[in-house]
Amino acid sequence: MNAEIIAVGSELLLGQIVNTNARFLSRQLADLGINVFYHTVVGDNPDRLKNAMGIARERADLIIFTGGLGPTKDDLTKDTIAGQLGKQLVLNEEAMRSIELYFEKTNRVMTENNRKQALVIEGSTVLKNEHGMAPGMFLATADSKFMLLPGPPSEMEPMFLKYGQPAIESMTGNQAKIESRVLRFFGIGEAALESEIEDLIDKQGNPTIAPLAGDGEVTLRLTARDDSKDTAQALIDRVEAEIMDRVGEYFYGYDETSLMIELSKLLKNKNLTVSAAESLTGGMFQQELTSVSGASSLFKGGLVCYSNEAKIGLVKVNPETIEKYGAVSGECAEELAMNAASLTNSDIGISFTGVAGPDSLEGHPPGTLFIGLHVKGQPVHSEKLSLSGSRTAIRKRAVKFGSQIIIN
Ligand code: ATP
Ligand code: MG
Repeated sequence: MNAEIIAVGSELLLGQIVNTNARFLSRQLADLGINVFYHTVVGDNPDRLKNAMGIARERADLIIFTGGLGPTKDDLTKDTIAGQLGKQLVLNEEAMRSIELYFEKTNRVMTENNRKQALVIEGSTVLKNEHGMAPGMFLATADSKFMLLPGPPSEMEPMFLKYGQPAIESMTGNQAKIESRVLRFFGIGEAALESEIEDLIDKQGNPTIAPLAGDGEVTLRLTARDDSKDTAQALIDRVEAEIMDRVGEYFYGYDETSLMIELSKLLKNKNLTVSAAESLTGGMFQQELTSVSGASSLFKGGLVCYSNEAKIGLVKVNPETIEKYGAVSGECAEELAMNAASLTNSDIGISFTGVAGPDSLEGHPPGTLFIGLHVKGQPVHSEKLSLSGSRTAIRKRAVKFGSQIIIN
C-alpha cells in the first residue's frame, strides 16, 4: 500500500504558505505503515489538477488531496475529481444542516455559494468537519482510493485523525497495533549519530528507525507494528536499549519535549533555583525558561549584560578580569555565573558570553563562547564551545548547550 499527497492551492506554489499539510499527513501515514512515495503540489487550475490526478492514479494506491473544498470559485478540487471519476456531486443533508447551523450561530446570512460546500461526491464516505464547514470525503474505486480533505490545517488535522485515519485502517484491514516513540538527542550531529547506529539503521525492519535533524538536535522515531500494543512496545524497547548503549550520553528526552522542559522538570524535582547572566544570548535562556509553565518556582531572575559596562556595573564582574582575559573568556563566564547566583540567592548560576557574529570579537571568531556554571557547594567552572552557523543558530544552540550543561 503506497500513497501520494496532492496539495491543491496556488498560494503554495507562490511561496505564500508552506505545505505543512503534506508533512502532517506523511507522518500520520508513516505511523499507519503506509509508504508515501510522492508529494505533489498543484495550483488552483482544473487542467493541471486533472493532470496531477492522472499521474497519481498510475502510481499510488491511496491519493490524499488537501485544499480547495471551500465555497469560492478557485475551490475546484471536488468538481474536478468527481468529473475525472465520472461521478455526480450530491447534496449531503447532514453537511447542509451543519453549514446552516454555522450561519445561524454566527448570525450571518448564508450565500448561495456556501451550499456548494454541502455537495459531496456520490458514493463517498463523508468525513465530518467539526472545525469548519466543508466536509471531507473518502472514496474507493477499482484502481485507487481517494481522500479529500480541507486546506486549513485547523480543520484538516482533526478531521484526518478522527475520521480519515479510521477509514484508512478499515480499508487496509490493518488490525496490527502501531506504536511509536521519539528519542531526542542533543550535542551530537546527525551524521555522527547515524554512523554510531549505522548497522541498526541498515538492518531495521520492525521497528523502523527514522532519523530527523533540526535546530541542532537529532531525533530518532522508532515505529513498531505488532499484534498488541505491549508487544509493539517491547520491540521498541529492545532497539532503544541498543541505541542507548551507543549514544545514550546525548539522549535527553522522549516524544514531545525540549531541553528546557527537561531542565525545568529536573530543577523542580530537586527543588533547585537558577539564575542567569547573559551576554551573547541577550536573555534567550531566561525567555525560554520562563516560557515553560511553573517557572516561578525555579527561576528568580537574572541579567542581560551585553556590554562590558553592564558586566561590570550590573553583574559586578571585576574590571581586571575583563582587562586581563577579555569578556569572551572562561574567567569572565565563571564570575558572571557566580555573581548571577549570589545576586538572586539562587542555587545555580549560569552565564553565556561569547561571539554570536557575524563579526569577530577580541580576536575570537563567531561561534566562540563560554558558558559558566556555578552550582552551590561546588567549584565554579566554564566550558568553551566553538559553534558554527548563523548568528541566530549560534545563539539558539548556546541556550541548548547551557540547558544541557546544567542537566548533566
Ligand atoms: P476554505 O474553506 O478555507 O477555502 P479550502 O479547503 O478551500 O478551505 P484552500 O482554500 O485551498 O482550502 O486553503 C485555505 C487555507 O488553508 C489557505 O489559505 C492556507 O492558509 C491553508 N492551507 C491550504 N493548503 C495548505 C497546505 N497544503 N498546507 C498548509 N496550509 C494550507
Ligand atoms: Mg478555499
